This record gives sequence, structure tokens and C-alpha cells, in this order.
Amino acid sequence: MSKHTYLASVITTSRPSLESQLDAAVRAGAEIVELRVDAISDASAVENLLAQPRRTPFILTVRPSSEGGQWDGDEAERISLIEKLGLLLPGIVDVEHATWSRSANIRQKIGLVCDSSPPDPQDIGPAVPQPDRPKNKLILSHHDFKETPADLRRIFEGLSASPAHIAKLAFVARDATDALRVLHELRRLADRRDVIALSMGEAGLISRVLAGKFGAYLSFAVLSSDQSSAPGQPTLDEMTGLFRWDSINTQTRVFGVVGWPVAHSRGPHVHNAAMAADGVNGVYLPLPVAPGYEAFARFMDYVALNPWLDFDGLSITLPHKQNALQWLTEHDCHVEESARKTGAVNTVIRREPSPNDDALVAGSYRSWQGDNTDAPAVVDALETAAGFRAAESRGRSVHVLGAGGVARAVVAALAQCAEVTIFNRTFDRGAALARELGCRAGRWADRAAGNPHIFINCTSLGMWPDIDSTPMPADALRTGQIVLDTVYNPPDTRLLREARQHGCVAVSGIEMFLSQAARQYRLWHRREAPAATMRDALCPVISR
Ligand code: NAP
Repeated sequence: MSKHTYLASVITTSRPSLESQLDAAVRAGAEIVELRVDAISDASAVENLLAQPRRTPFILTVRPSSEGGQWDGDEAERISLIEKLGLLLPGIVDVEHATWSRSANIRQKIGLVCDSSPPDPQDIGPAVPQPDRPKNKLILSHHDFKETPADLRRIFEGLSASPAHIAKLAFVARDATDALRVLHELRRLADRRDVIALSMGEAGLISRVLAGKFGAYLSFAVLSSDQSSAPGQPTLDEMTGLFRWDSINTQTRVFGVVGWPVAHSRGPHVHNAAMAADGVNGVYLPLPVAPGYEAFARFMDYVALNPWLDFDGLSITLPHKQNALQWLTEHDCHVEESARKTGAVNTVIRREPSPNDDALVAGSYRSWQGDNTDAPAVVDALETAAGFRAAESRGRSVHVLGAGGVARAVVAALAQCAEVTIFNRTFDRGAALARELGCRAGRWADRAAGNPHIFINCTSLGMWPDIDSTPMPADALRTGQIVLDTVYNPPDTRLLREARQHGCVAVSGIEMFLSQAARQYRLWHRREAPAATMRDALCPVISR
């Protein structure tokens, strides 16, 4: 039977009042509230709150600066404060393992307010104080704000052997692979005892969202991002809304977008909303993986060799699309011919093992396959929004501005059926792409010359916050041209506005984005994507 994993919130300030923050946290879904007395810095307000009748259990924490907290005062005073507030029975008291290990005197003082005997395996709930059990549960915690060390297992085992009810371990994650390593240790330990294990920083988000899947005691979220007590904490709204905390269980399938950076990605909004609408038990997360093949291969190796993580599909974005193709090729995985021709993979899919596969295949590299949905999405966008017909476009001229990742997909999609010329700021890069994909290259300074049927902007010019920029002088736009701007934030760029003013057919990058996402959805879930839901989820998060 799977354990219940509590959603905990953190209070780090006394303004607004602790009572109103507590009410708001509970309304937003928190089941436990941590009072960070070191950050609140108003012990009497905490005392008043603890003295009131209540039903929500608290975690009482007075964290010293040596473990990432804000307590810089006298250590003996800190222990006395824990003792004094602990007598008001918050429910749970968090003490650093290093503090606990320091002296018998400290252990005795903490022991006055905490029941530090090994936990009853049946008793997995937070300690709501009972008359016959007038002590708090003890969390012993270990924090590493520098790294996720190589000897993670030894640290987990060391804390596991402690007399705490709940062992808490938190490490800064360099990238998503570090967070997966923490989940690995959480999964091992959660079978035996109550444990909180999480990765801090942007890359640690997956460890916080999947805490319930792997049996953690709790996961933290905050009311608003300015109230976080550790780097990378999501808000309660993100946890319960975007990532559907309440639906995550041991069966939840895992999807995500691999890139660097990925915090800005709108993929989580679109794919999580689609899975929710469709009743799919899955979650889609940002997965920051540092640039370079080595870091990408380390991540993919970890995912492939640990099938219990339940990854079923990945979106691949900048700078890893070519790394994904290389990794799949090196591991003899199937890659769609169209993706090979494009020279980039933006979609990775875990395939069902066929009856002929040996038993190891489910957990091996060859369970994975690659595709590219960007290229067909360009044609989809031109067809649906501008009536373009690829089959009737032979001899038509297409000017592509840019030679990066998106330009690669655009050129691969159109070079077979039209006369494509690439204009890139760095000519040599454009010329190299043109050679590889069989089209022409022109100088950036000449991009306004000629009268092509289609202009496609694949540069980042015009993207938020640089919204006043445009890659093309307005007087170079001609009535009847199709102008596709792959920039989708904002959805209506200066280029598109000027294109409409000059009688062109303007196509937003949103159409391409939604089409590539819908194609990914079909590949992963083997069913039609809920297109309207995806559009509704995307538009509000890019209209800034
Ligand atoms: P990328 O690989 O970094 O390529 C960026 C391109 O923009 C390069 O060709 C670069 O030229 C050019 N560029 C950048 N700044 C420029 C400037 N000031 N003047 C002229 N050219 C400039 O990026 P990408 O992944 O291809 O993404 C490009 C754009 O596509 C992004 O802005 C994003 O909004 C959009 N996008 C759309 C979708 C979609 O589905 N609609 C998906 C992903 C991205 P150099 O080679 O000279 O550096």
C-alpha cells in the first residue's frame, strides 16, 4: 500500500500575520506548515500562534546560517528557543543532524520536547499532539548547499540509522540527473522509514513534484515565490494546479522537457493541461540538463538504466536536439528517417517492448526511439493558417532568416518541396546548414532583396522582452506574401503586425508550437491530442 505524502508549506515572515498566512496555506492545499522561526525573527508571534487551538500540524525549525538558515545568534540560545517553543507541541521539530550529533547535552534538551524513539511503522501521520503522547516527532536533517555528493548512499544510510522519526536530506542539484539520484535513494529508504529527500535549485523540481510517487513523507511548496526558504521551491498553486500534486501516485508516468535553460518553457503548461483533460495519469516537468554531450548522455543513461523512474517521453530543446540524435544513434535506437534527415531529435519516446524482445529490453537503451515533430509542425502551421499546400509549392521561393535549431527544422521541412534560401547573421553558419540540407545561402544584408512567396523568421529578434525588434524592414514586405514568425512569445510580434499592414498573410509561431506539441502528445500517448485544451493552456502564459 502506498504511503500518503503530505504537502507542506513554509512560513518565513511575520508579515502578513502568521494566522493569515497559515489560513492561506491551508486553503491552497498545505497539510503541514513549517514555521521557520530563524527567518520569521519574531519568536513571540510564533509562540502566540502555537498557543492557539488548531488542527494543522506544524514543523518547528530554527535553522542556523551554517545549514542555510538565518539564525546567526548564540547556539545555546537557539537550542533554548527550540526547547521553549517545542513545549507548545507544534507536532514536529526539525533539528540538524550535525547539531544533534554535537553533544549529549543538546540531545538531552531536544529529547525533552521530542520523542526520538524509532517510529512505529503503522504511525506515518504527522504527530497531532495527544494527551498520552505529549511530545513532538523529531526530524533530523542534513543539507548540502554546494552539491549532490558522489557518496549519496552513505549519507542516506548514516541519517537513516539515526533515532529520528523522519530523516530529511536536501542537496543542491547541478542538473536534473542529480535530482534523479536523490529520487533513487528516496525510493530505497522510503520502504523502511519516513524520509524527506529533495534536491534544491531549479534542477531539483522533479524531486519535489515526484516525492509522492516515491513515498516521501512530505514535499515543500510556498505560498508565493518570494517566501521560499530554499532554492527551487515551487508555489502551492504550481504544485496543486500545474503539476496536479493530488493525482500523483506510484503509477504516474513521467514526461518532461530536457534543455538548458528550460525554466521559461511553456511545455509543462500545455502537456500537463492536456493530460489532465484526457484523464492520463502523467506529469510533465522541466528537466535542466547542462550543455554538452557528456551531461546529456549522463542524463539519458540514468533514465534508460532506471526504468522504475517511469519516464515515457521527453521533449528535447536547445541545446540538446543534436545530442539526442547522437545518443540514440550510439545506442542503436530507432530514429525516424525524417528526424535523421533534419539532423535533430526533439521527441524521445519509450517504446513498448515487443514480444520478441528479451526481458532486459524494457530497462535498456533500445527501449527508446527518436523523432522530430518541429519539421512537420512548420508545414502544419503554413497549411492551416495560410492555406499553403506543400505538394503544390514546387518552384516557390522561401526565405528563411536564421540558421539555429528552429531554422534547421524549417529548412528540412521545406527544402524538399520549395526553393529555400537561408539568410543568417553569421554567414558561415547559414552556408553550412544550406550545404547540409541542400538549399542556398544568402548574406544577412541581402535579406530584404527579392520577392519570395514565404518569409520565415527563425531568429530570436522580436522575442520577449525585445518586442520592438524585427528581423525585416517593413518596406520589404509585399502584398500576398506568407510571413511565418516562429517566435511565439509574444504571439503577435512586430513582424506579424507589419506583415498584416502590408497585406501579407501573417502566421504566428504559436501555430507551430502547438502543432509540434500535439504531435509529441500523439507519439507518447497514442491518441489524438486535446488541441483546444492545449491552446487554452498556452495563450494565458505567453501574453505578457
Ligand atoms: P538558436 O539555435 O540560438 O538560433 C538563433 C538564431 O537567431 C541564429 O540564427 C542567430 O544568428 C539568430 N540571431 C540571434 N540574435 C540575432 C540578431 N540580433 N540579429 C540577427 N540574427 C540573430 O535558437 P532557435 O532554437 O533556433 O530559436 C530561435 C527562435 O525560434 C526563438 O526566438 C524562439 O522564439 C523560436 N522558437 C519557436 C518554436 C516554435 O515552435 N514556434 C520553437 C522553438 C523556438 P547567429 O547564427 O548569427 O548567431
